[in-house]
Amino acid sequence: MLPNDPDISTFRWQMQLLSSFFNVIPLDLALAGLRDGTIPPRAVCITFDDGYRSIHDLALPILLEYELPATVFVSSGYIGHGAMWNDRIIEAIRGFEGGSLDLPSVDFGVLSCGTVLDRQKACETIIGSAKYLAPDLRESLTREIEMHCKVSIEPNLMLTKSMLRALVGSGIEIGAHTVSHPILSNVSDESARREIAESKRVLEATIDGDVRYFAYPNGKFGKDFDLRHVKMVKDAGFEAAFTSSSGGAAMLGDDYQLCRCMPWDRSPAAFGIRLFRWLYGV
Ligand SMILES: [Zn+2]
Repeated sequence: MLPNDPDISTFRWQMQLLSSFFNVIPLDLALAGLRDGTIPPRAVCITFDDGYRSIHDLALPILLEYELPATVFVSSGYIGHGAMWNDRIIEAIRGFEGGSLDLPSVDFGVLSCGTVLDRQKACETIIGSAKYLAPDLRESLTREIEMHCKVSIEPNLMLTKSMLRALVGSGIEIGAHTVSHPILSNVSDESARREIAESKRVLEATIDGDVRYFAYPNGKFGKDFDLRHVKMVKDAGFEAAFTSSSGGAAMLGDDYQLCRCMPWDRSPAAFGIRLFRWLYGV
């Protein structure tokens, strides 16, 4: 149902390529190196967002095999239970036994669900439109879809506490990604502040260690978060924060708006060229 996400064989060649041609370093070394000019050439950091258990079950063995450090940004409200709204919608539509979906309360039209491709498209349409709804409206839409599809299983997709601790024990850094993954611009300042600070507190208690870095949900400056949220992240005591704007991190850049991107290229050549373009800003 997620055709654009890398599978494990793609992830393996991506990591092999990073290990062969780039200097994959931990975030703290990269940030220190950016500040004092000692960052090695072709430096890359690997990060994962949200806190899916596939990081522990599938990615970790490959990261360990190639000795690659990484950081995982976790939404603390889903540790060990529950599923994010988008995954619940995907699960409902995957298990739907009807041939088409026509939701009475929203104007998506009739969404065909005949083939896997149709279901993928239906999910894209619904999730793309629902992303910017207020959290309570998004939750009621998700429930409506689950009821309409007669599928209401919460897929067991998220990291548990013991998996988080195992990641830390394997040298993976844990960062915060709010509690419930709201788009910060869509919630009140009070709620945004709580989401940011509470995720740090819960994660630090869970791993019994520092949570130094933050990633903004969805991550586009001006659309998903703004300077109010940057200040909240600083006030909560984070040392740096990450967006989803494409590109490399530069010296003298803002440590609370560091660029990242998802290099989901299909071929090693395209993936490698993209990384070099980010690194050299071309
Ligand atoms: Zn996220």
